[in-house]
Amino acid sequence: MQVSKGQSQDQIRVSPVANGETLLIDGQWTASHSSDSFSSINPATGDDLGQVSAGDATDVDAAVLSARTAFDERRWLSMPYPERAKILNSIADRIEAEMDELVVNEVRENGMPVPIAQRTIGGGVQAFRYYAGWLGKIHGQTGEIAAGDAFHAFTLKEPMGVAALIVPWNGPFMLACHKVAPALAAGCTAILKPAEDTSLNTLHLARIALEAGVPAGVLNVVTGLGSIAGQALAEHPDVDKISFTGSTAVGRRLVQASAGNLKRLSLELGGKSPVIVLDDADLEMAIPGVLRGIMINSGQACVAGSRLYAHSKIYDKLVQALSDAASKMVIGNGLDEGVQMGPVISQKQFDRIIGYIESGVSEGAELATGGERHGDTGFFIKPTILSRVPTSARVVREEIFGPVLSAMPFDDLDWAIREANNTRYGLAGAVYTTSLEKAHTVARAVKAGTFWINTPSLTDFWMPFGGYKESGWGREGGAMGVDAYMETKSVIARLY
Ligand code: NAD
Repeated sequence: MQVSKGQSQDQIRVSPVANGETLLIDGQWTASHSSDSFSSINPATGDDLGQVSAGDATDVDAAVLSARTAFDERRWLSMPYPERAKILNSIADRIEAEMDELVVNEVRENGMPVPIAQRTIGGGVQAFRYYAGWLGKIHGQTGEIAAGDAFHAFTLKEPMGVAALIVPWNGPFMLACHKVAPALAAGCTAILKPAEDTSLNTLHLARIALEAGVPAGVLNVVTGLGSIAGQALAEHPDVDKISFTGSTAVGRRLVQASAGNLKRLSLELGGKSPVIVLDDADLEMAIPGVLRGIMINSGQACVAGSRLYAHSKIYDKLVQALSDAASKMVIGNGLDEGVQMGPVISQKQFDRIIGYIESGVSEGAELATGGERHGDTGFFIKPTILSRVPTSARVVREEIFGPVLSAMPFDDLDWAIREANNTRYGLAGAVYTTSLEKAHTVARAVKAGTFWINTPSLTDFWMPFGGYKESGWGREGGAMGVDAYMETKSVIARLY
């Protein structure tokens, strides 16, 4: 795709949204009642991309009232399901038709290179097509009950009601689609809360949904700070469901904040995914796989394979090859042709990641490559590999969410599996081996919601996605993904 960089001086324009009027309530774009706003910053250049309205508890009240009214009036559910499916498919078509602009915006707001933005926005298209296909396929069961045939017994699947959808900045448009599509397919009304660093491009999704025929009030947007707008959603007594993707620390806060009315919670949280490379692995496959698994999106991927356990027979060769390949990666503005790695999202993340690298070295790791800023503008960090890291080091224990791989050698596979599981996270994992037996043994043994054999980071919409342990509650994707927005009611009727 050819991208015009001339546009990069401009703000992200979401017609008909006026600058700073980024709340969508009952079909109307508006500013927060306080008129407070903040800037969205291009992490590659520092450019100001536009003003984001700082919604607060009063704005959240208005958005929840809008979603509640739309739900109670059955504005969405009263439409026959083929019509709702048509609208979800139309959202997919419209995103596809506007792909080029959405991709450029996503790169400017998040920093990811164009090919990644194309894949992630494409993932948004697929989400709407996939969940549109669920309409007409959501139904309960019927069956005999022990009380006898004087009774007719069946279950009803019903939407939970008002769903708050809180998303992070690392795949902003796609992750919003991953929540809006199943929430609407289930029949819920929703309030979308984008991440403060990446709110603007996501507004296009709400605009497109309105244009495609989603009735006013069915999809609302509250932009603003997580600690204020997000927290108000989590505490709100009239929100029935929260679907959250973000850090484990905030996930834990949501559990507490939502206790008041015992909201249903789906939590897609952090990760510290292990990658085990055995001595029989095909290194031609493992080297690009391990590198891609950690460096994609500058390491800002929840499933990033950030802990490498490599057999000592191939350890030095593998780490050397990974370091050579990492140091050759093309780093730069994601809009530039051939760029493989963009910046990290913000100064805050930049400082945090550099701090982790320094802590790894001070705790005894060898710096194999990277470890420093790239260039002198924007938030670029060179792809970094820390070698022979003590297993107790913070860089092994904590999620860094940056382009940093911690590598450790092993001789005993059982030790590697124990260390792979020696974490509070359980989102994903991978193994590289040519042994079918070992591949499946490791896949069974690693406690993670998704596991890859000889490949990095593949997912599909029908496959449940989510975490074991502190990586989350519940699953997105497939039947479980729709069910996460539904209640099941048992009905028993006396016939005679
Ligand atoms: P974050 O937890 O800081 O923020 C995520 C969202 O929550 C943002 O919209 C933020 O505004 C909001 N928020 C913050 N404080 C809140 C509060 N008190 N109440 C309600 N909402 C609040 O996460 P982040 O830094 O934006 O994203 C990075 C994290 O997301 C990483 O830990 C990463 O692993 C995780 N993540 C997980 C998945 C997954 O599917 N498991 C996918 C992508 C990212």
